[in-house]
Amino acid sequence: MESPLRIGVSACLLGHPVRYDGGHKHDRWITGELGRHVSFVPVCPEAEAGFGIPREAMRLVGDPDDPRLVTIQTGRDMTGAMKDWAAKRLDDLAGQDLCGFIFKSRSPSSGMERVKVYPEKGGAAANKGVGIFAAAFMKRFPMLPVEEDGRLNDARLRENFIERIFVLRRWRETVRAIREGAGVKSLIAFQASHKLLLMAHSPENARLMGKLVAAVTRENLANTLEEYEILLLKTTSILATVRKHVNVLQHMAGYFKKLTSPDERQELAEVIEEYRQGLTPLIVPLTLINHHVRKHCVAYLAEQAYLRPHPVELKLRNYY
Ligand code: SF4
Repeated sequence: MESPLRIGVSACLLGHPVRYDGGHKHDRWITGELGRHVSFVPVCPEAEAGFGIPREAMRLVGDPDDPRLVTIQTGRDMTGAMKDWAAKRLDDLAGQDLCGFIFKSRSPSSGMERVKVYPEKGGAAANKGVGIFAAAFMKRFPMLPVEEDGRLNDARLRENFIERIFVLRRWRETVRAIREGAGVKSLIAFQASHKLLLMAHSPENARLMGKLVAAVTRENLANTLEEYEILLLKTTSILATVRKHVNVLQHMAGYFKKLTSPDERQELAEVIEEYRQGLTPLIVPLTLINHHVRKHCVAYLAEQAYLRPHPVELKLRNYY
């Protein structure tokens, strides 16, 4: 792949000293592990909007659905300044080919959910708000994968987010190739290579997408690409489950029926069952399947993104 996979990240998570107190919230996994495979576009709404470093701490106040950004000590309303800056910055980000965004949790500017919103006249805060910039970002790019640093500590959410950004990057490269003349066969190849990955999220949507691609013509190509992209982003945002992974693993095992010995088939069935029971992580049956794919040269499976949806060095399939 030629272009770097770019994602936006709250700048303080990258270790930039941009917080209200001049500190940061460096996340070592983001910079140390993920940073080897993607490039970052740092964004600090409060610093970039000109609020200064250090600056007075802020919080959300008022209606949780339309809160104001207010400084805690002096009560200055920064909402207008933040929204004006965000509108311009989002125009800039629209041209950056971002495949996703990692927000700093709980921030009144950057938090993507459950940010505290205080009542106008005092009292207990409700954890129902969204940071002003994060809300504007998600409104402008509603289908783009987004996550928060805290949620990324959950192995399933982490794998899902990383898978989505890599799928989106491959999809954009496919669309680029089609626009440069590669034709509908590139769309057909993308669907074929992502079929099992899609099945792990939603077998129903995977079928729908297969039908959409089967009906593609030169004339309806532009509409088909639009529809397919929406379905692709919706489908990959549905979390894969153990049950759906087991279905995909058993489907793959079916390809080896005539190629493997009874003993090898038994071993594969046992490993899949151990994964189903939560005794081994997904990487265990996948490693055995990869071994058979190579040994028996099963071309269809070798092309499946499901077997390598993201860089193996990230070790994202080692959880139970
Ligand atoms: S949470 Fe957002 S606004 Fe606050 S320091 Fe980090 S990037 Fe800047």
